[in-house]
Amino acid sequence: MPTIAVIGAGPRGTGVVERLVANLPELGAGPLDVHLIDPYPPGAGRIWRHAQSPLLAMNSMASDVTMYTDDSVVCEGPIRPGPSFWDWAREHADPDTFEPELAAELRAVTASTFPSRRLQSRYLEWVLADLLAHLPDGMRVHLHRDRAIGLAQDGPAQVVQLGEGRRLRVDAVVLASGHLDASPTPDELALVAHAQRHGLVYLAPEQTTDSDLSVLAPGETVLVRGMGLAFIDLLVLLYEGRGGRFEPDGDGLRYVPSGAEPYLVAGSPRGMPYHAKTHYGLRAGLPPLPRFFGDAEISALVDAGAPIDLHRQVWPLMAKEIAWGWYHELFRGHPERVRVPWDEFVDGFAAAGWDSPEMIDLLDRAVPEQVDRIDLPGLHDPLGGVTAPSLDALQPVVRALIAEDLRQHVDEAHTPHLGAFVAMLSVYSSAGRVVASGLLTPRSAAQDVGWWQGFFNGVASGPPGFRVRELLALSEAGYVRFLGAGMAIDAEPDGFRAVSTTLAGAPPVHARALVDARLQEPSAARSADPLLASLLREGQVVEAVITDADGSVLRNTGQIRTRPADGAVLDAAGRAHPRRFAAGPHTTVKLPGAFTRPGTNSLSFRHNDALARAVLQAVAGAARAAA
Ligand SMILES: Cc1cc2nc3c(=O)[nH]c(=O)nc-3n(C[C@H](O)[C@H](O)[C@H](O)COP(=O)(O)OP(=O)(O)OC[C@H]3O[C@@H](n4cnc5c(N)ncnc54)[C@H](O)[C@@H]3O)c2cc1C
Repeated sequence: MPTIAVIGAGPRGTGVVERLVANLPELGAGPLDVHLIDPYPPGAGRIWRHAQSPLLAMNSMASDVTMYTDDSVVCEGPIRPGPSFWDWAREHADPDTFEPELAAELRAVTASTFPSRRLQSRYLEWVLADLLAHLPDGMRVHLHRDRAIGLAQDGPAQVVQLGEGRRLRVDAVVLASGHLDASPTPDELALVAHAQRHGLVYLAPEQTTDSDLSVLAPGETVLVRGMGLAFIDLLVLLYEGRGGRFEPDGDGLRYVPSGAEPYLVAGSPRGMPYHAKTHYGLRAGLPPLPRFFGDAEISALVDAGAPIDLHRQVWPLMAKEIAWGWYHELFRGHPERVRVPWDEFVDGFAAAGWDSPEMIDLLDRAVPEQVDRIDLPGLHDPLGGVTAPSLDALQPVVRALIAEDLRQHVDEAHTPHLGAFVAMLSVYSSAGRVVASGLLTPRSAAQDVGWWQGFFNGVASGPPGFRVRELLALSEAGYVRFLGAGMAIDAEPDGFRAVSTTLAGAPPVHARALVDARLQEPSAARSADPLLASLLREGQVVEAVITDADGSVLRNTGQIRTRPADGAVLDAAGRAHPRRFAAGPHTTVKLPGAFTRPGTNSLSFRHNDALARAVLQAVAGAARAAA
């Protein structure tokens, strides 16, 4: 019987199994055994396991999360609709089967709440159970709570070695390994050694949920490098997690300390937290997308076969598309705030290049208020150009910027932010296709792709509003202080010194503890996963290293190379393995997440579909050969 091993049972592995289920009747036409392998709970996997702090929340709203395809998804396989998180919470989840805390949360959840990770864990487990309850005839799924530690070949057969000793002989393998731990980089190792030598504390990048935060003592000053989502998790665990409370205080919150918390001084390259999530719906409905950066524009770039500079040639299309989402919502949702009829605006907007004098003139005529015009540089770098003479002087400045950002993401007068966000999802997918063409110049691949990912994260992947209110309360209470942009650290025997470009000229901040609050960059070479490490050692997988024309390394992405069309694993010579596939953050195919907003033609689901179909075709071929 054809057999497939899916290694990793988080949202990606589960999504791949869903597509195997969907496509088997058409492509398999026979029995199929699937082994789904993960030491963490199947369906949820490590990131979404139940066993983590109940305080940690998703940064997606209940109605924005689905594991099921819908009519918007353009893929070859059949659409198998199913409940979004929000549908599940209303129609399928039974609070009486949950522990009291989770049952209370389920009863209170609304379309626009940001559920706890524990509740999402239940949804993901339910999705897998639903799949298993509706397998096509002849298909069986075997769950293994184990780690895959080796993968070998025996003729065409793939042999998966499990940690507890069993070997699985299969026809094809999918590596859905997700966010993998890695040993520290040389710079981080130097900080680890320095901290050990001088009795200091240094926490290298890792999953915050798995960090030993007890080393950060009450009352101690701690430098924090990084202000993204790992920073938000750190705040949750160090303050509410140590017994502090937030009480309503006017429009905001007031922090009531427990006495067990440290004092943080936080900075990063941009010096600001990610923009808050929007808390409203679109007034004008979904903008028609793609409009200025879709098939035609991608083909025009890619079919020529010439080297592409993302920043110079693609960003103007990306920016115009994002702005299109913004202005569609502004004109159709807030017509009282514009001066030009929609049809006239569309004609002018379509004809003008992004940032051209014609575009600037059109916007000057059509949109009188600055706040109603999209400000892409301002969104990317909200602290740009701000300086302050001292740490104390900077605090109210940063707080005011964060508070205004929060206001615009909560106040329905500013729904164009959501229009832009929706357009960014479309742009992410289109830009991914250009990147996958392999035509980017080495410089552009090494620099611009990371820049765009940073822009996307900062604007589209931010925390929910209640977390931003908590951050503001912690800042008001003096427990969190902002260091500004361009943070740099010096390690000295008596501690770490931090400076920033925002505070150029001000005295450095000194502390005996430093936390790098971010996930590790993907790295197959430094991976703590024995399976991936052994595959790399044997040359079975290869990291995508971007080199210049003269062979000098511009950037090692640390991700393993896979074929964009179907996730087939590539070797150093660029040959696709016929029976090994991979998808997720450890691979070169950029996907915005493993679950997604309903109705958005999710790139993730399309990729899962293409991958599952290729896997089924591979095992059908194997079955024919064996017959
Ligand atoms: C802390 C955090 C919070 C996030 N929050 C959100 C959010 O709110 N909204 C959103 O849209 N996205 C969020 N994301 C993005 C995230 O990428 C996806 O939500 C999702 O978890 C990715 O799914 P995955 O299955 O690819 O990876 P993972 O969730 O990492 O799952 C991979 C699984 O593979 C298993 N595995 C790895 N190697 C092996 C092996 N050798 N043998 C067996 N099993 C193995 C792991 O144990 C793990 O369970 C978040 C990410 C992180 C890290």
